[in-house]
Amino acid sequence: MGDFNSVIQFIKDQYKTDNFIPLHVPKFGGNEKKYLLDTIDTTFVSSVGAYVDQFELMMQSITKTQKAVAVVNGTAGIQVALRLVGVKAGDEVLTQALTFVATANAIAYQNAIPVFLDVDLDTMGLSPKAVASFLEEFGELHEDGCYNKKTGRKITACVPMHTFGFPVHLEELIAVCDIWRIPVVEDAAESLGSEYKGNPTGSLGKVGVFSFNGNKIVTCGGGGAVVTNDIAIGEKGKYLTTTAKVPHPYEYVHDEMGYNFRMPNLNAALACAQLEQLDGFLENKRKLAKEYQSFFAAKGIHFRTETPDTKANYWLMSVELENKVDRDLFLETTNANRVMTRPIWQLMYRLPMYANCQRDENVNAEFLEERIVNIPSSVR
Ligand SMILES: *Cc1c(COP(=O)(O)O)cnc(C)c1O
Repeated sequence: MGDFNSVIQFIKDQYKTDNFIPLHVPKFGGNEKKYLLDTIDTTFVSSVGAYVDQFELMMQSITKTQKAVAVVNGTAGIQVALRLVGVKAGDEVLTQALTFVATANAIAYQNAIPVFLDVDLDTMGLSPKAVASFLEEFGELHEDGCYNKKTGRKITACVPMHTFGFPVHLEELIAVCDIWRIPVVEDAAESLGSEYKGNPTGSLGKVGVFSFNGNKIVTCGGGGAVVTNDIAIGEKGKYLTTTAKVPHPYEYVHDEMGYNFRMPNLNAALACAQLEQLDGFLENKRKLAKEYQSFFAAKGIHFRTETPDTKANYWLMSVELENKVDRDLFLETTNANRVMTRPIWQLMYRLPMYANCQRDENVNAEFLEERIVNIPSSVR
């Protein structure tokens, strides 16, 4: 190997351009302008409005959940989801080391402490085996839940993240967490439209969270959604994210410390128009993934594909290079030729603020950290 010119040419051919090719950009080909203008014409641009309600209904239908709550971004959504499942200051939350920093930050915002466990090589997401062996070594069940024998702290949530839209082994993971009475919050920020055994990701844990940031498969500028099948939790989520206001004809009554995590109607309008096109986006990306797959197979480069029983949304597509030297050469050559590529994230325990958190060996995460590279994945 060492010659990636044919890769560069292939990607340019896919996007039919000689100009710079970004990793992922949004596509606005539907009712975006119409709905946005409507918010201005009606003056409903802020935190209440018909598009917020419509967005929540659309998300319930897409994720097959009982309740969806529109929020200001995905990070805030994870923070509130953790509070909803009972995470309190000083608790521990199990998650993966191989993730975007927002997962760990949301745990820290709740004044909880992340524990960084390994991922599976096939899904690149939190490994049920890693969680099981961590809990066998350190877990202790008390009447009120699971405790970490080493630190004495309570473990009150587990947050798997569906890396680049590839679903983690959810059934096995939820089974382990059930034994230890730990609620699962799915960080589904990257996996809108992905399925695990026919069920949308985000719908299988106690709570699921999506992001609609500018780089995600569907964007509303900035925004998020918290989904759940537990209606009481969903209603509590709506209440907490809208300043915990008790209904009253005119008085300001707030009986808990809530948040202003509301998604403005302006953003919801964009989200509704984008969600209308989700099926088309998914189909379009799947086609590109197929073309990448056969091209890279012929070149002897491992293009990452969905695992059995799952459907990935192919949000960000990726290749796995042989080693770090090859990876660096791939990154250098493609970027120098204006085809944007980017390595997967640095593991969370390499970042100064999370360097002292408890973790396991992360053998798989460290393997992937050195080899995985994202390639241009926008809808064409
Ligand atoms: C994008 C993303 C988030 C956060 O979403 P924002 O809407 O940008 O706050 C959280 N977790 C993961 C894994 C993400 O990729």
